[in-house]
Amino acid sequence: VSGAPDAARGDRLVELLSERQLGCLLVTNLVNVRWLTGFTGTNGACVLTRDERLFVTDFRYTDQAREQVRGGFEPLTGERDLLGDLAKRLRGRSGFDDAHLSVRAHGKLAEAAPAGVELVAAGGLVEGLREVKDGDELRAIREAATLADAVYDYMLERGFGARTELEVARDLEREIRARGAEPSFETIVAAAENGARPHAFPRDVRVPERTLVAVDLGCRLDGYCSDCTRTLASGDPGPGAVDLYELVRSAQEAALGAVRAGAELRDVDAVARDMIEAAGHGERFGHGLGHGVGLEVHEGPRLAKTADGELTAGNVVTVEPGVYLPGELGVRIEDLVVVTENGCEVLSGFTKTLTTAG
Ligand code: ZN
Ligand code: ZN
Repeated sequence: VSGAPDAARGDRLVELLSERQLGCLLVTNLVNVRWLTGFTGTNGACVLTRDERLFVTDFRYTDQAREQVRGGFEPLTGERDLLGDLAKRLRGRSGFDDAHLSVRAHGKLAEAAPAGVELVAAGGLVEGLREVKDGDELRAIREAATLADAVYDYMLERGFGARTELEVARDLEREIRARGAEPSFETIVAAAENGARPHAFPRDVRVPERTLVAVDLGCRLDGYCSDCTRTLASGDPGPGAVDLYELVRSAQEAALGAVRAGAELRDVDAVARDMIEAAGHGERFGHGLGHGVGLEVHEGPRLAKTADGELTAGNVVTVEPGVYLPGELGVRIEDLVVVTENGCEVLSGFTKTLTTAG
């Protein structure tokens, strides 16, 4: 995967500008800048009009920009504080990312912009486009997911042993790095009652025998993330735990079956939620069913009770119901999937049969 975006991304953005009657768009969020141009440095921004695509960075990144910036953008070098250079480039009704630009930065822009420039809140335009992945992005995400599968295989081989949650988590992160990736977020290893916390931190506590252990990990390759949770056993966890596991697994598989282009986001969430509610655990599934994954491990679209909109072919989302019994244990099962016209392609390959790691 080269990671260099083609001009189609900027073309789609320019179409949105026309729809919104914007003469120009300022892109300051670095993830959006990377998606549009391929630039991975820490200071850069874009200005797009119908006829011009400019990328501005400072002298520290001049060479890097020349090597990386694609997508039809012309790389320019400005002051280290880019705002003055960017302001001069704005024309007419100029959209800016109101979710990202500070009030102070907005003030500076308004002051330095040429006469006739009107700053218009236009956040979320690039994020919306990023929700539909192209072939290069899907290749990177597939590869990151396959790598995560291999890390789970490694974990099964290695077992929990007499190690602490923290030791297991660090070992998995070392394995991710040994395979040439980075963890896409801090690896979670949460046994017994710690697994009842949806956002658990691994503790300096030995993994007990005969309990459930939730492991949530992801890899980042060429900037693109994967995200996968499996709940394993460290020996026979008893019939109650197994029943809970099977409930979450059937809810997860039913929800996977509901994923397709055109499905309402909240309806997909409801498929899993209704099953968990019917089993009497509705209150114990306190988060949304899933989220988009791409350059960021959490992005749009969200699968949740309150989410508006529908899935589109090319979305990459997680499907991750969970049931958390405070003070006892938790079960979460999470797959990463690509939405297709008729269903989905599941990228997470590690088994969902309750598996014991010694
Ligand atoms: Zn996860
Ligand atoms: Zn997730």
